[in-house]
Amino acid sequence: MKNTQEELKEKIIALKEKLDVTIVAHFYQRDEVFEIADITGDSLELAKKTMEDDSTFVLFCGVGFMGQSVKVLSPEKRVVMPKIACCAMARMMDALYFDESIAFMNKAGISSEDILPITYINSNADVKAKVGKMGGMVCTSSNAKKIISKALEEGKKILFVPDRCLGQNIAQQMGLKSCVIGDGKDPKDSDIICFNGFCSVHQLFSVDDIKFYRKKYPGIKIVVHPECDPSVCALADFVGSTSQIIKYIEEAPKEQKIAVGTEFNLVNRLRPENTYVLSSTKPECPTMNETTLEDVYLTLKAIDEAEPINEITVDPETAKWAKVALERMMAL
Ligand code: SF4
Repeated sequence: MKNTQEELKEKIIALKEKLDVTIVAHFYQRDEVFEIADITGDSLELAKKTMEDDSTFVLFCGVGFMGQSVKVLSPEKRVVMPKIACCAMARMMDALYFDESIAFMNKAGISSEDILPITYINSNADVKAKVGKMGGMVCTSSNAKKIISKALEEGKKILFVPDRCLGQNIAQQMGLKSCVIGDGKDPKDSDIICFNGFCSVHQLFSVDDIKFYRKKYPGIKIVVHPECDPSVCALADFVGSTSQIIKYIEEAPKEQKIAVGTEFNLVNRLRPENTYVLSSTKPECPTMNETTLEDVYLTLKAIDEAEPINEITVDPETAKWAKVALERMMAL
């Protein structure tokens, strides 16, 4: 007898064949949702691959800012999300907090003309638009170094939002000085001034976790995402984006033990042997896990009934400037 999940999968596949829709899923989605997707990847890969896809509807399984990026880059598409779940990090900053960060730097004696803002792709469209309007751009965890190198050529101070860890880690790798708004340091002494946002999931990995695994399995490799705290990244053997972590593990010898510091669903899907989750606490992203197969089915059914639900819209002015910030990154 079939279980509910199998029945739901069959219904989803039947509707997918009937409708002009592409299902897109981020690496951190639940396995059963990930398995029924047509396009999978990290946030940038998804935005790029979706731009090349010609379906009318994009059913996006991920978090809100990702659906917004697809809509901003491909305004002709109708983007629907089974759950409009908001990434905890993206939620830590909005247009008002962005303005306050600029005001903080102005007060410290850095004029707006001397600031170049860079936002991590994990930010909402209003923040991307603010960045685009000020001449700045978007970056991802895989291209942050390249984007920052380019930005530094302009001889300006970089305001990096919203993830302090990514900003600090890149600064450390590039031998640059960084500070975090609110840490008491004078921003004039830093090259990169970071907003104090963070990913609640990647904060779970600690120096103690690394010590534990190194002691338990001498020779183990520690691989982490740059959203982890700088103290953790400094002790890792490899720091990389989601796609870079996947590549590192695929290319490693099968017998090499590896402890991975990133989201649980992704780590769990990697090779079954000699791979460990670098935490005693399950590092599952709650918002990524909100989307269920039933949500996907109901969203497809609503399209079939010509009454789409959870459609993503971005106001034209915000979309215009957010697109500028995204396209500056893509041009590089
Ligand atoms: Fe946001 Fe962190 Fe979840 Fe990624 S893992 S979606 S950064 S809260």
